Order: sequence, then C-alpha cells, then structure tokens
Amino acid sequence: MTPTEVIERIVLDPDLSVPEKDERIIAFLAQSVGKGVAAAVQCLSETSDKRVSEFVAAYLEMIPGARPEKKRVAERLRGAGPLAQSAARLVPWLPGSLVDAFIQDYLAAPDPDSPLGSVLLAIGIYYPESLRPHADRIDSPFIRRSLLSGAPDSLADALLGQWQQDRDIDELHSLALIRTRHAADLIESVRDDIDDPEDWEWLMPLAGRLPDSGEDSGFRPSFMGFVADEGESSHVMGGTYPGDVPLCADCRAPAERVLTLSANALPHNLSQDPTFFWFSCDCEEVDRIVVRFNPDGTKVYFGPQGPAGKGSRIIPGKRSMVLETHPNQAGVSLMAIAGRSQHQVGGLPRWPSPELHPICPECGNFMPFLAAIDSGPTPYGPMGFEGLLFGFWCDGCSVSTTQIQE
Ligand SMILES: [Zn+2]
Ligand SMILES: [Zn+2]
Repeated sequence: MTPTEVIERIVLDPDLSVPEKDERIIAFLAQSVGKGVAAAVQCLSETSDKRVSEFVAAYLEMIPGARPEKKRVAERLRGAGPLAQSAARLVPWLPGSLVDAFIQDYLAAPDPDSPLGSVLLAIGIYYPESLRPHADRIDSPFIRRSLLSGAPDSLADALLGQWQQDRDIDELHSLALIRTRHAADLIESVRDDIDDPEDWEWLMPLAGRLPDSGEDSGFRPSFMGFVADEGESSHVMGGTYPGDVPLCADCRAPAERVLTLSANALPHNLSQDPTFFWFSCDCEEVDRIVVRFNPDGTKVYFGPQGPAGKGSRIIPGKRSMVLETHPNQAGVSLMAIAGRSQHQVGGLPRWPSPELHPICPECGNFMPFLAAIDSGPTPYGPMGFEGLLFGFWCDGCSVSTTQIQE
C-alpha cells in the first residue's frame, strides 16, 4: 500500500475515534523514512479528502524544517478547494510571496468561514505585518486580535484614549498585546490610574516589561520549539535528570525533567543551563515548581526533594528540542489554545489567559518568561500532562519556576 492508502484507510475506519486516528497516523508517519516528511508530502499531494489533509498537515506542523516540501504542499493545497484550510498548518515555513498569494485569494471573496479563513488566521499570528494593510477588509475578531502584535503607535494611542473614556480593562489588555516599546510606555504611564494594582502587574509583563525592575519580561529572540530525537539538539527533553528533583509533597513521587536548555546553544546570554520540571502524579498539591541550580546540585523551594525516578512519562522518553526562529518576533497577540503542540523558547509568553509572572524566592523580583511547553501530540506519542507549562528564569539567581495553565 502507498502511504496515502494507509492513511486513508485509518481515516475511514469507523471503529476508530478521532484521537485514535490521530495517534495511528502520527505513529505511521513517525516511523517512516526521514520522519515521514516524504510520505506526508505524497499524501497531501494526492488526497482529495479534507479529513486526511487535516491530519497529515497537523503532523507536518510538528516537524521542524522541510521548508521546500512544506512550500510545495501549500501550493498544491492552495488550488485544492476545501483542502486549502490545511495550509494553515504550514504558514510558519512559507515564503512571503506565497503568504501574499493566500492573502489575495482571501480578499477576492473575504469570508472568515471559508477554507482560507484558517490560513488568514495563521498569517495574522506569524506575519501580522503582511496582513495589517488589509485589516479593514477582515471581519473576524480573532484575525483582528492577531493583528495587535506590533501594531502602529496610532492604534496604541487610540486604545489608551478609549480606556480613558470607558475604563474597560479589555482595552488595556489589547494595548498591552501590541508589545511595542510605545505600547509598553503607555501601560507604564497608567500605573497610578488603574483601579486594581494587580491588573497593572499582569499588564506590564504582557506588554514586555517586568513591573518592578522595568527589565524585559522575556528573553529575545523568540524561537518555535519542536520535540525531536535525542541528540538532534543540545536542549534535552525528558529522560532521567542527573541530580535531585522536586518530590510531590503528597505522594513523594519525583517530578520529571521537562526541558533543560543549553545556555551555550542559545543567543540569550544565560549564565547557566535552566531546567524546568513537572509532576508526573495527579495529586494537584502544588501549582508551581521552583528550583535553584547551585554548583553542588539543585535546591528545591517550598517542598521536598530527592533522587530522580527512572523513565519519563511527562515527555515520552528521552528527546531533545529543536529550535527555529519564530517568524513573529514582536510576540503573538492571539491567545494560546492548549493541545496544539506549539512550544516556544524566548520571546514573550502566549497565554491562554494572561497571568502574573512568578516572583524569584532569592531576589524577590518578578521573573522573566523563558519557555512554554504544550501538552499536544508529539511524533513519539502523547505528553503526560494537560494544558500548557510556562517556564520562567531568574538568571542572576539561577532559579527556574515552572507553572501550568489548563
Ligand atoms: Zn503526588
Ligand atoms: Zn532572583
């Protein structure tokens, strides 16, 4: 059987649920030659079934690189009617000329519910600059929200003016999501005018600055992260952590390593390799893990610590994280939806709903964001947690904080 026949057979099997189909298609492609890129490309070039193209394009979205293949597939999908929707998954890898061609296709018959609506939304997320000149012809509130990222100062000024009239916190939320220096200056200027001081403390880091120190609330530049084979990158995921780890305060189960970033392989000038941990048990005793990395080992705050366990369930096995430069360096303004396998290192956090940054227990300052790990599928099977993990890093104190949002 050809790859397309194998995949179509899985999709058409009436005894399988959608998650089962997804898992089987991922397993089939992941064990194919070259991580299944050629098989996925062949399938997306041949199929006329939108369900098939959605499953397979979602798989390709989990694989870094393969830029020429993704471009070729997107060109085919562009001319394939309802299948064009699946090209949304490939947008981060498309050249500007093809992005513009999709925008022109959409503007010929603007309708957010058309197959091109999802592609436009992805373009707003990754290339807001390309879509912004056409904003007045786009009705979707989601696409419009994606265009806040990096928006001009005139819009920032208008949002502040509206807030001064209505006092609606949503207007400051939109202003913060612009994430330019000017928008951050405006948020900073309203500190004493906001009714609830805690609102200002989440708006400031959302706009790009820590509320107390005024330092950046993230580490630039921003990368997209992809779960890959062990050794493919020097950023380690899963496996057994070589040192003490946090223990669950309730059942004493050891937490597991989610990610260790290699400082030397990053442009962020980190003085140590940050590690982020998470619990593998379901006790829900703690909503945050805070660890300091000393020369003589780890020190866990607010809970017990002990040796790491064997095996890895949070991350399926011992893997690594491959990074690619994020096309949107300003910071995505559309809220995150957990379960889409969109991991991030550096840049500003993309929250499902914005939160305060944690405070470093050593220096007492707010901590900048460093990484987000999503619970969606991987080529190696599902992650062992739900929602999105957010990792923060105080470089001066070598302290990491990991917290979850579901
Ligand atoms: Zn437990
Ligand atoms: Zn600190």
